[in-house]
Amino acid sequence: MIIGWDVDGVLANTVDKILAYRNRIYGTSYRREQVISHDMHKLWGGTVNEAIEFFHRYYDSPEYRATQPVEGSVEAVRELTSRGHEHKAVSARPLVIAQSTEDFIREHYGEKTFEKIVLTNQWSTGNSGARMTKADVCRAEGVDVLVEDFVGYAEECAQAGVQTFLLDCPWNQSERLHSGVQRVKHLREVVEALSRKL
Ligand SMILES: [Mg+2]
Repeated sequence: MIIGWDVDGVLANTVDKILAYRNRIYGTSYRREQVISHDMHKLWGGTVNEAIEFFHRYYDSPEYRATQPVEGSVEAVRELTSRGHEHKAVSARPLVIAQSTEDFIREHYGEKTFEKIVLTNQWSTGNSGARMTKADVCRAEGVDVLVEDFVGYAEECAQAGVQTFLLDCPWNQSERLHSGVQRVKHLREVVEALSRKL
């Protein structure tokens, strides 16, 4: 199977570093548990465009460069590789951080573990390249299973026929999910579920 991995919140523990950066710059003390929406500006206020500009400043920060993998993700990818699955990263990140995204993935998951890293460029500024949807990318890349932390993308891909695992996080506590979306508390549950059907 080809497994599609979201980057932020699934491979990369991004929220903790964004909050560390935000707290350092603005003297705030936000914590992970307070992030109850995927739209982080709902926590600290302001517009979507201000949030996108903030994230672009964050990409230049030491906090961004110190991003660590999500707990259990390295082991899950390694285990699924050993069982013959293939991996592709499917992220909504902007193209301006394509290189650092690739560097992060190669450093933590191995040089050749991910066959492809596709960025949909959803959170880009102005006129900086075409944008795609995750469902389009999954279809084009032959992704059979997606691991995601945002309910919106999980539902979009499930509706497109991609089996989707939603990694349980404070920001994805929706009551009802599409029947093609399975919530998991830990990435080892993805390994267990996929081990039953190779
Ligand atoms: Mg994500």
